[in-house]
Amino acid sequence: MALIDLHCHLDLHEDPFATADEAAAAGMYVLSVTTTPSAFKGTRRLERPGSRIRTALGLHPELAESRRRELPLFRSLICETAYVGEVGLDGSRAHRGSLKVQTEVLSEILSICAEAGGRVISLHSRGAAAALLDLLEAEPRAGRSVLHWFSATPSLVDRASRLGCWFSVGSQMLGSRTGRSAFEAMPAHRILPETDGPFGTVAGRPARPTDVTAAYDMIGQFLGQDRDAVVAMMTRNLRTLLPSQPVVTPEAAA
Ligand code: MN
Repeated sequence: MALIDLHCHLDLHEDPFATADEAAAAGMYVLSVTTTPSAFKGTRRLERPGSRIRTALGLHPELAESRRRELPLFRSLICETAYVGEVGLDGSRAHRGSLKVQTEVLSEILSICAEAGGRVISLHSRGAAAALLDLLEAEPRAGRSVLHWFSATPSLVDRASRLGCWFSVGSQMLGSRTGRSAFEAMPAHRILPETDGPFGTVAGRPARPTDVTAAYDMIGQFLGQDRDAVVAMMTRNLRTLLPSQPVVTPEAAA
């Protein structure tokens, strides 16, 4: 059984093709998220033939204000992928000022997902967890939400679980006190590993998808399970999460 990295930015690595090749050679499942709709087509070229690298269509909340004009492009590309991300809200000091625009952008993205029949969505929520859950609750047909690096309070984790959310967790999150207590509130059958590389780091350098082993080890340590058991559990979780039918459209096939 192969390793899974459910949230990484392949296109932002120093050598995206070498990083993608390494993950493909390891047989990994990788969800390669993007930060702007205009990056989608180029990033999809990193899906090495025969690999299990999948590209998500994104519009990062930190770029919502400067890139909201790309929403029509987002809408036109939705039929080409089963995956959306990175999208979400960021309420940290540096980005709080654009929360109104971020909210409008995310609402529109969720309604585009709903109209398209639902997507697997990788969501950012730093400093805005409750507001994010409000938006997800308002659009239940958007699809399956995976909350990435969700270090919110246990009661918000609980609320997210009741809404049906999934959680992708990395070694840095699990190494922090708040991250650990959030993890403890997450249902084990809705957890998946991630690196968030190259922003996520391992031993002080940008994490490559193969570095996701650090997340597996910490999950195993916290759940009292060995690597094989964690690998089996994550594989089971991924099979439950992913859509059973691939999205194939005339445009994607052309
Ligand atoms: Mn990210």
